[in-house]
Amino acid sequence: MEHHLFDRDRVGLQDAVLLEDYTNENAFVDNLSKRFKENVIYTYIGPVLVSVNPYKELNIYGPKDVKEYNNKAFFEVPPHIFAITDTSYRSLKEENREQCILISGESGSGKTEASKKVLQYIAEVTDHKGQVERVKDKLLFSNPILEAFGNAKTGKNDNSSRFGKYMDIQFNYQGNPVGGNILNYLLEKSRVITQMPGERNFHIFYQLLSGASHEELERLMLKRNISTYYYLSHGEKVNIDKINDSKNFCDMKKALNTLEFSEDEQNEMFSIISAILHLGNIGFSENEGMAQILKPDLVETVSKLLKCDVLQLKKALTQKTIETIRDVVTSPLNRELSIYARDALAKAIYDRLFTWLVQRVNSSLQPTRSNNNVVMGILDIYGFEILDKNSFEQLCINYCNEKLQQLFIDLTLKSEQEEYMKEGIHWQNIEYFDNKLICDLIEEKHKGLISFMDEECLRPGDPNDMTLLEKLNERLSYHPHFISHQKADTKLQKEMKRDEFKVIHYAGAVTYNIRGFMEKNNDLLFRDLREAMTISKNSIIHSVFLEAEQRSKKRPETAITQFKNSVNNLMSILHTKEPAYIRCIKPNEDKRAGIFDNDLVKHQVRYLGLMENLRVRRAGFAYRRTYERFLQRYKCLSEQTWPNYPGNPKDGVQILVRTLGYDSEEYQMGRTKIFIRHPKTLFRTEDVFQM
Ligand code: ATP
Ligand code: MG
Repeated sequence: MEHHLFDRDRVGLQDAVLLEDYTNENAFVDNLSKRFKENVIYTYIGPVLVSVNPYKELNIYGPKDVKEYNNKAFFEVPPHIFAITDTSYRSLKEENREQCILISGESGSGKTEASKKVLQYIAEVTDHKGQVERVKDKLLFSNPILEAFGNAKTGKNDNSSRFGKYMDIQFNYQGNPVGGNILNYLLEKSRVITQMPGERNFHIFYQLLSGASHEELERLMLKRNISTYYYLSHGEKVNIDKINDSKNFCDMKKALNTLEFSEDEQNEMFSIISAILHLGNIGFSENEGMAQILKPDLVETVSKLLKCDVLQLKKALTQKTIETIRDVVTSPLNRELSIYARDALAKAIYDRLFTWLVQRVNSSLQPTRSNNNVVMGILDIYGFEILDKNSFEQLCINYCNEKLQQLFIDLTLKSEQEEYMKEGIHWQNIEYFDNKLICDLIEEKHKGLISFMDEECLRPGDPNDMTLLEKLNERLSYHPHFISHQKADTKLQKEMKRDEFKVIHYAGAVTYNIRGFMEKNNDLLFRDLREAMTISKNSIIHSVFLEAEQRSKKRPETAITQFKNSVNNLMSILHTKEPAYIRCIKPNEDKRAGIFDNDLVKHQVRYLGLMENLRVRRAGFAYRRTYERFLQRYKCLSEQTWPNYPGNPKDGVQILVRTLGYDSEEYQMGRTKIFIRHPKTLFRTEDVFQM
């Protein structure tokens, strides 16, 4: 049965491109809402898939559904994530073209679930034999591992990814998965030491405490009680959560085994997790400006777990060595600085453990033969963020989204253009907002925000957050997308405070607070602590700190510059690939099924740039179909084409179009497809057809 675009009354329009007024946001959102209420969560904008999180299990991902979408033409079946995946997979397999599936949307909108569906579909439609099946197991099982260490419960999502992830699946010439590779971006490491009320630390801490055996806990010197650990409780009573940590721990251990983590590696990983918990419990008092460790036996526990020297660790937590040109000076830290050092160590250890983990997963996913593989990439990365208070992290995230928007513009316009060329259709220029201006504001060498941030970090004297802000205000206020608090007091700036600046992003204006920028960008870990870690006998700790040490000797990079480099690297990876887009939308703030909050959705439609997307698509032709398909559907509308047209389909369509009285402005005949400018034309045809 051919499902068609025109089941208008029951479930709205399958493709928003067919909306009469493509500039009407309300009509667009209404269409999504109508479908959502019928449990139809997927809608297209041309080739882009819009997905609304149902917050309940829908029975649409079973083997029957896989079969329904396998090897089907995109537009012949209702919108579905399997359709997107199938199209992408076939282009990879049949035309040898590298693919990427780009998933975006705000926290809780369903990105990670979508990425899992993509992987599930691929796993089901490819070979189920020996080696291939093993590779697929590993790809699938990499998820519970990375989620345990990289996800956490937040106010918005019980299983929120606190890192960006790009995963390559490598396919051999037969189209079977033979390996994979993961790149990780910007883990939210501050969560290790502190969380907002109602939120949690990374899952792994709770998993370990509730899922590990007594013997294991004894070895790790841990108590089961969460409240024991300051980094988990902050001295307050902890509510028991409904998340099943001990089951998840079990699944995660199973996954570690599937990816062939050795017993030793697993022990070392959990020792590190335990060390972080103990580290958080080390308190300090102060005597004449010098910090004193309150419970020295805790430092012993930590040093046992990390296999480092206890005296050296004690010193490193309370003293600071500075090398000047002439000699080396050691000075004591006060209580505040000791706490800072302790927390910095906890964050650094966790962050590096996570990076190690990704590398370790990658080594297990490495294909045995790596030549001639074709790649499908899946990007699951944080969407554009506007919080009540926006800081360094939001700037990084929003910068990354600007870059993705650039890529989107580049690739969609390019592919529209390419299709028109291929079909020999007369090309018209499409007007659109090019956000390169904003990317430049952030990343341009010597002139952008990032450069000034780095400059200020390296400047001698007493650079701090406020001197940085002054510099930004001075150097950037000429820029139309940068707004300082001094800039002419229009309505926008009035609400700004002295320690804030505003960037007008493509998705909206965001006010950033400068507090903490310098510290986060410097990302300082005192040298004494680094040295103590570098000679650790825990091989994970030893290797990650040694590696960082060697890197920083060459060229110390600030946090934002590292991020910029990795984002640009990602862009060049994606640029060579054929893209598919999944835009995820959250229907309400309460994680509830069946509730569609129009205003909330409208916001996201704006942030995701969906109306712009629709506009670009409609600026050309709303509808395009191969001559065969078009003829097949409408052949009954002319005596000359009914019941069968004997000649070539293009001529048949030409006859139909003449019979139907299409205006010459309204359509163009390409090499293999008919292009129709406005949905009205098509609806008229459809109405005739229905009569
Ligand atoms: P974050 O940016 O915080 O990582 P996210 O976009 O990755 O958020 P997910 O973790 O994928 O969001 O989804 C949040 C929750 O929504 C899931 O845990 C699940 O309960 C529900 N959900 C998402 N997609 C679906 C779906 N297709 N079917 C059923 N439930 C879903
Ligand atoms: Mg996620």
